[in-house]
Amino acid sequence: MISYTERISLLMQDVVRRTPSLSFIRLPEILVFGRFGRSDAEGPFATCHCLTLPTSEPGYYFWKDRATGQMTRQSEWFITKSPTVRVGPTQIKYLISFVLPRFCDQSLERSRKAHHYPGAPNWVGKLDTIVHELYHIDPSQAGLRRVKCADGSDSERSHGPHFYEDVARMVKSYLASRPDPSLVGFLEHDFQTLTDHFGGVVGTTFRNFPSFPQRYMEALEMPASDPLVRIERLKRATQPELYTEDDLHVRQFAESSTRRLTRKGQHRAA
Ligand SMILES: [Zn+2]
Repeated sequence: MISYTERISLLMQDVVRRTPSLSFIRLPEILVFGRFGRSDAEGPFATCHCLTLPTSEPGYYFWKDRATGQMTRQSEWFITKSPTVRVGPTQIKYLISFVLPRFCDQSLERSRKAHHYPGAPNWVGKLDTIVHELYHIDPSQAGLRRVKCADGSDSERSHGPHFYEDVARMVKSYLASRPDPSLVGFLEHDFQTLTDHFGGVVGTTFRNFPSFPQRYMEALEMPASDPLVRIERLKRATQPELYTEDDLHVRQFAESSTRRLTRKGQHRAA
């Protein structure tokens, strides 16, 4: 079977090596993983999630009486934190997720980036997505380039006016450097072709799939801002504060489902 996330990681190494404006990126601190998304459904192809944002200041939610404007209830105080992801001794600073099988089946012609690549084959759209996500990594490694990432979502406004052009320029100069076909060739195939050819498409996922490390709220023991106001308890976070290599699973992706693969000799978990 083909490990799609591994192939993308290897390709990223070559892209970073040959692209001066991305050479600051330390790839061991970046983890590529798979999320599930059907090819025929709308949604992103990939997302860059940053884990380096500092813990927020304490805050709370509140409710007001519509007539009097008086606060009637407040939530517990909380802070918002990023989970820690560690692989061996390395602390991961960014996660880049690829949505499978949708990413494999993306079409350049019908996309808004098509005009940057006149006459280019379809698979160049996938290379564009990979470079795009790398370009979100801020040179100061302090967040996402030109974005404050609250939930890791990739809104239109997270891209400056030249973002798409810069990406297209990097993609073209990478292709002009004549990369090894054994590194980029897998992008030429759609999902069905890969599945037929390799007997399956697998990718790294997290133990709590379809979830993955995301910012979470932690309640604080602090008094109400007004002693007469009722305090609502927050829902407790259900995701871990720390992920390690033991939380990485391999899943096989199909058109409309995924299943976990267990290695020989590994205990079978539910
Ligand atoms: Zn983006």
